[in-house]
Amino acid sequence: MTLPDSLADRAALGSGRDFWSTKVVGDIPSISLIDGPHGVRKQATGGDNLGIAASLPATCFPPAVGLGQSWDPRLVERVGRALGDECQAADVQVLLGPGINIKRSPLGGRNFEYFSEDPLVSGMLGSAWVRGIQSRGVGASLKHFALYNQEADRMRTSSDVDPRPLREIYLRGFRRAVTEAKPWTVMSSYNRVNGVRASENPFLLTQILRDEWGFDGVVVCDWGAVVDRVAAVRAGLDLQMPDDGGAGDADVVRAVEAGTLDQAAVDRAATAVAALAERGRAGHRDGVVVDVDAHHELAREAAGKSIVLLRNEGSVLPLAAGGSIAVIGEFARTPRYQGGGSSNVNPTRLDVPVDSIREAAPGASVSFSPGFTIDGSDSEAILAEEAVAAAAAADAAVLFLGPDAGQQTEGIDRTEIDLPAGQLALLAAVAAVQPRVVVVLSHGGALRLAPVVASAPAILDAALLGQAVGSAVADVLFGAVNPSGKLTETAPVRLEDTPAYLDYLGEYQHVRYGEGMFVGYRWYDARDLDVTFPFGHGLSYTTFAYSPVSLSVEGDDVLAALTITNSGSRAGREVVQAYVSVPGSKQVRVRRSLGGFASVELEAGESRDVVVRIERSELEYWDIRLDRFVLEPGDYGISVGSSSRDLRTHAVVHLEGEHLRIPLDIESTLSEVMANPVGAPLVKAAMRETPFSDEGSEALGMDLDRMMQSIPLERLITFSGGKVTRDHLEDILDKANAS
Ligand code: BGC
Repeated sequence: MTLPDSLADRAALGSGRDFWSTKVVGDIPSISLIDGPHGVRKQATGGDNLGIAASLPATCFPPAVGLGQSWDPRLVERVGRALGDECQAADVQVLLGPGINIKRSPLGGRNFEYFSEDPLVSGMLGSAWVRGIQSRGVGASLKHFALYNQEADRMRTSSDVDPRPLREIYLRGFRRAVTEAKPWTVMSSYNRVNGVRASENPFLLTQILRDEWGFDGVVVCDWGAVVDRVAAVRAGLDLQMPDDGGAGDADVVRAVEAGTLDQAAVDRAATAVAALAERGRAGHRDGVVVDVDAHHELAREAAGKSIVLLRNEGSVLPLAAGGSIAVIGEFARTPRYQGGGSSNVNPTRLDVPVDSIREAAPGASVSFSPGFTIDGSDSEAILAEEAVAAAAAADAAVLFLGPDAGQQTEGIDRTEIDLPAGQLALLAAVAAVQPRVVVVLSHGGALRLAPVVASAPAILDAALLGQAVGSAVADVLFGAVNPSGKLTETAPVRLEDTPAYLDYLGEYQHVRYGEGMFVGYRWYDARDLDVTFPFGHGLSYTTFAYSPVSLSVEGDDVLAALTITNSGSRAGREVVQAYVSVPGSKQVRVRRSLGGFASVELEAGESRDVVVRIERSELEYWDIRLDRFVLEPGDYGISVGSSSRDLRTHAVVHLEGEHLRIPLDIESTLSEVMANPVGAPLVKAAMRETPFSDEGSEALGMDLDRMMQSIPLERLITFSGGKVTRDHLEDILDKANAS
């Protein structure tokens, strides 16, 4: 493939032909880039990025909020492969996903499109998704790069973040997915980052993405994110979408002619887009026919593995497939299974929960009462009364609850984390007449669950599960599938407890990431806050026993080895989680962070050895003095368990790490100089010229050394009345630094 000769044609390659495709230039073909992520949203006519125009039917797999709860990269990869095949059949070359932003606040309107509050979960599952799609000759678009964590004012707001949370939280998953899975494209986000638009940001698009991580694909902007195309190309953006009528191309040509834009940047972008088109052409497979039934079955399996059993007091679940069951809640008939906006997929079919329950339990008498309306239009009191009567007459009640549609849609943040008051009142009334209450929650963002816990002995977190929602929930209700999902986001006690509560949304187009690295469970743990359900929590119909863990070092990684036994009476899967702590650290550290995880499937009574790999990258911190990741020398605690607050076994491993030598300078503190064996006696001697010599200080009850430790060396000049000179101090520094 050759680049066109003219500058105009090269510039033209860098913008769309229409809403969803690139231009044909010379022998470079057009390719289409389509939403995504959890299904192929190919619009039959026209185009829009808000999910308005109807799209062709496609399998609606669980959105990331659901699928993430599987903690199963292999499953996610299989879903990715199926998505790749659907793209092939629809002649789509790039699917716009996965979204791997961090769930910073439960109020984020698009949290349902993201996997987790934790960067390891996001990065591992994001990588798997990319690998899956791309193994089918279709490109992924890792999005939204970066720090796009709220919908409010999303095209202007600057996410103002410090280097450590930037690197250790917000970019960490992107780094993993880019370096491990090599996505064909990365989508730059709408927002600004530390004041600079992400789509025009050389620090993000060139320094980090290309120079540090070696990204060699196309940077495409989010739809409509570019304001200044010349700045964007200069910063490292390759493709502006959608088409803007040629205005940006003309700007690029003018800027090169005026000498304000280096033609090399235009050529870089054109070459990248041409290479992407070639990848699309080479990857194309003729005649792919989607096996719609097989994909639906995969969607069902994925949904089943994504359901989290939050609570099961008195083993209410699984239900017997006989007797009488009152199914309550409009969502059992009109399920909520995906969010609104650009990711909205037109499903090939839809498993309606109440129908699936009837199918799964043909011998049971199953009643249905809506209990409430989705838009509050009918008389809720009458509906609630009917539902309570049905619950009283049945052997068990299954209530399908969830927030309004407006609580899980692109473009709009949430305003609360409570379930609608009417639904909670209905639940309390049902619980008053029926002890065997199961609540099934459909939701795209975290909820305040204390009132649900107060009334329901059994709770299934069904998040958003895609088109197989009904059958997947029925599978778990009756025990055909033993639940094994785990929360990827903490369920907080109150909105006021959440990490970003004080500065979420920000002001005047700036939102300060004031909680720093303390995002999600890192925050609740550091502040010792109670939570309703912790990160990583999820029960099973069986139980698992953990042997003591033993640690070893392999290359750069730590391996945590233990034996897991299924100590109950049913086959099941356990997601084993390893958390890292560095109690003796000299850095600011979170109390514990997820370092690795592994799934194990066990028959009743079976035991298996499990090894959880904790990669060096999960042990490092970002050193703000050196501007790079560092492995600190010292003892690392590894706690392994069934959730972040159900840690069953702990061991310590010593890691040599890197002994950093940061050169001392005149601004170094006395304690920093004292830590140097050569500098210590020299500076002690110099201090005798100041009033701060040791003599007598102990008698006065003063710990002079500690009081002095934060005084910069240079201040000895003043405090000695000039007796200690700058030359003298420079001499001490030279000797100490040379030692
Ligand atoms: C969304 C992207 C999406 C794009 C194209 C934007 O509004 O932020 O996630 O891929 O539209 O529809």
